[in-house]
Amino acid sequence: MFDKQGALNKLNRIKDLNLAEDMPMASFSNFKLGGPADLYIRPQTEEAFVAAIRLIRKENWPLTVLGRATNVLISDHGIRGIVCQLSPDMARIEILDNELTASAGARLSDIAAKGAVAGLGGLAFSSGIPGSVGGGVVMNAGAYTGKMADVVLRSQYLDAEGEVRILEAAEHDFYYRGSFFNDNKDHFVINTTFSLQPTPAKDIYDEMADIALRRYKSQPLNYPSGGSAFKRPPGHFAGKLISDAGLKGFWHGHAGVSGKHAGFIIQDGKSSASEVVEVFRIVQNKVYEMFDVMLYPEVKFIGDWQEELPQRDSD
Ligand SMILES: Cc1cc2nc3c(=O)[nH]c(=O)nc-3n(C[C@H](O)[C@H](O)[C@H](O)COP(=O)(O)OP(=O)(O)OC[C@H]3O[C@@H](n4cnc5c(N)ncnc54)[C@H](O)[C@@H]3O)c2cc1C
Repeated sequence: MFDKQGALNKLNRIKDLNLAEDMPMASFSNFKLGGPADLYIRPQTEEAFVAAIRLIRKENWPLTVLGRATNVLISDHGIRGIVCQLSPDMARIEILDNELTASAGARLSDIAAKGAVAGLGGLAFSSGIPGSVGGGVVMNAGAYTGKMADVVLRSQYLDAEGEVRILEAAEHDFYYRGSFFNDNKDHFVINTTFSLQPTPAKDIYDEMADIALRRYKSQPLNYPSGGSAFKRPPGHFAGKLISDAGLKGFWHGHAGVSGKHAGFIIQDGKSSASEVVEVFRIVQNKVYEMFDVMLYPEVKFIGDWQEELPQRDSD
């Protein structure tokens, strides 16, 4: 049984750590859904993050680490134990020569912008991805002109024993929408250094503007969502299969499949997480029935679920 008061008392002694009890998670997630976290903490600095995680490990308290919560759906019943959200506060960004180092909580759009101002190219692809550096590295986030695997030089991380370690580029074992951190869920990114190329600022801004326009034209950015709902199945595109199954624009209560991009599951502001899960299951089942292709969610289901979740792959 998680001793919330005991945890609150001990964590309260850590400098630069904001804490709140029974924090509703909806306002901190891009899906705008999710019940309360028993104890919600937000480190302001990398030092506070390391100190908090070490204490949490020592005490064996249940822990969920989040970046900007743009790739997760949080249960209506909330999250038991401690939620440590790194973004927006733990967001240091520094540039030295051609290397940019950012804390895990820094926004991907901010590192792209800082790179552009410094005339360093390589991060424009990340400018429209709404997540954090930590979440981006974990997921090997990518779009249009690049992906994390192309630019990560090294990461500093906390291992399961609470030791601070360095992971070199190749050791990230990046793959499609995953990395070393996906396979080692008790290891957490503290910061990442990116290797960038001197590039005229105008070229970077042009690339960013082009990407922003392509996103605006193709994605339902005015609805809460978790981005692409499903991973790309080998040899297919999830959005096309969903569209071919007749589900583009399908609504089930207050959640549904975007009519603009069938790869996005969205909600209209009045949905529950439970209703969104039903849409995932309806889409997964119908596509499987019609095409014999299993769509596995890219969105991660976080918290205390009592509903039957859609089938997942090994991740
Ligand atoms: C409108 C929209 C568009 C999107 N477009 C794209 C796109 O083009 N390309 C793309 O790849 N993704 C896209 N996404 C998905 C999402 O933004 C990315 O996957 C992003 O990298 C997730 O970052 P996050 O900070 O939100 O992570 P979260 O959602 O907070 O977390 C994702 C996972 O990473 C873990 N995690 C987070 N931080 C850390 C850390 N520091 N250490 C260890 N584990 C951690 C969490 O526990 C969780 O399992 C989109 C999402 C939306 C809503």
